[in-house]
Formats: sequence, C-alpha cells, structure tokens
Amino acid sequence: MSVTARRCDVRRRSPWRRLVLATRADAPGRDKTTLWTDARLARLYERYRRLYWRGRLPEFTVRVAELTRCVGLCEWTTRVVTVDVAQHDSDREVRSTLLHEMCHVAAVRGGTAHGSRFMRQLERLLRLGAPVTLDLPETGNAPTLSAVPARFRRCRGVLRAAYARERREVERQIAERCADSQPIEGAQLRGLILDGFEDAGMQRVPWRAALWGIGREFHLIDIDGEPLSWARDLVRAGMTAWRRGRRAALEYDRAAAVFGVGSLCEAGSRRPVGDSPPPVQVSGT
Ligand SMILES: [Zn+2]
Repeated sequence: MSVTARRCDVRRRSPWRRLVLATRADAPGRDKTTLWTDARLARLYERYRRLYWRGRLPEFTVRVAELTRCVGLCEWTTRVVTVDVAQHDSDREVRSTLLHEMCHVAAVRGGTAHGSRFMRQLERLLRLGAPVTLDLPETGNAPTLSAVPARFRRCRGVLRAAYARERREVERQIAERCADSQPIEGAQLRGLILDGFEDAGMQRVPWRAALWGIGREFHLIDIDGEPLSWARDLVRAGMTAWRRGRRAALEYDRAAAVFGVGSLCEAGSRRPVGDSPPPVQVSGT
C-alpha cells in the first residue's frame, strides 16, 4: 500500500457516502479499481469470513465510504467496517485493506491495535495464501522490524523488504540533513534516553505512556509496547529515572502547596516526551 496510514482506530466517522463508489477513472494513478459497492464488499467479507475464518468471525456491516485520515476503518462499537475505495490504486489493495480490517475484527478488542493479537491473524492469512499485502501500517508504523516478534516468521519475511526500503529512505534523509554534524555516541544516546524518562516523570506522564513515546522514538519496544530483549536493562534504568522525575514533581507540588506556586521556579523539562498514544486501547481496531 503506497499511500497511507491504514489506521484503524475507532474515531469519529466522516459522513457516509453510501452510493458514491468512485472508480475515479479521471484521476491519474487512481484508475485501476473497478466499481465497488457496499453489496460487493459485503459479499467479499462473507467469502473471506468463510474461507479464512471458517465462518467464525463476527458479522459486521461493510461499507464503502470516504475516510479522511485512513483508508480502512474497523469500529467495534457499531460493528462496521469501512473501506475508502477511492484511496486505493487497485482492486488488490482494496481486498488487502478489507482483510486488514477483518484481522482487527478477529483480534477482538483490547491490547495494542496492531499488536500480537492482530499480527497473529496476519500470520495465519499469509500461511493460507490470502491476498493480503503487508507494509509499515500493518505494524502500526513501528520504527523497526525488530518490534515484530520472531514468532511471526512469515510477517517478518514479507515486511523485511518494506523496512529495508524505509531504512534507506531515512538514511538518505539523515545524510542530507546532518552532513556536518557529529554522530551521537552510545553513552550520549543512553543519557538522552534516561533524561527523557526523567523528564516524563517530572511532567507527570504515566509510565506506560512514557515508555510508549520514548520507546517508539528510540526503538526500545515491540508492537505490544514491551521492551525488546536488548533494551530491558535500559528500560529498567529508564523507570528509575522516571521515578526520580516523578519524585521531583511531587516535591515540587508539596513545596508549592506550602509556599505558593509563584515563589517557585517551574521544574524545567529538558525535552518533550514523544506524543504517541500509550498502548492502552482501543476498542476495536
Ligand atoms: Zn489497522
């Protein structure tokens, strides 16, 4: 899937566009999809449901509609799967997006949206030869392939090329932007990470949210938000730093209660914590 965040969070829906089933033959690069209707998509859902889940997948309403921030959407609360056909370049991509959303249906609610439960479904589909394609959105845009546990062998095999492509692009951008700067040494990087955790504690960011934000930024965690094996010691040290920061914040609160906020200097933050959401979630996707 070339474009896109195929994000699947439950979010406010765009107004349904039930009958606008664009092939967009006039738009460059968008001329390879045939006509998709709600009924056609629903038939495909039913066929895949029997073929790949032995009919055990819950029944969902399946719709073609415009989406503003994603190309597919799975909403557990209303039991609706939506695919924005107009954002796809081919029928194959449409089918793949439908399968992606069906994996969310099968993974049921809870856990990280694109965590192990979701990945297990993709692994099954690959084993069964289903027409599903994998790219970074299937990992929730995890920064490295190491975030995908080794037990998902087929997924990792397919994703390897996507991550290699991504790495080349990132390296190219870094080379362009940082041609004159010095590389960061390992010890410096460790200090940077620990500072980040301490700042998060000072800013009263909950531990899981801090781990998610910093862990994603520095490639310390897997798709479930758990520390990678090589990073466990570092994350443990990070938790110590985070507690230190939190203690400082509590002391500040106590002092502010006694002396008044105006007489105190705000506990400074050296750097902002990443703003990614914590891996608690998500009803449905
Ligand atoms: Zn998804």
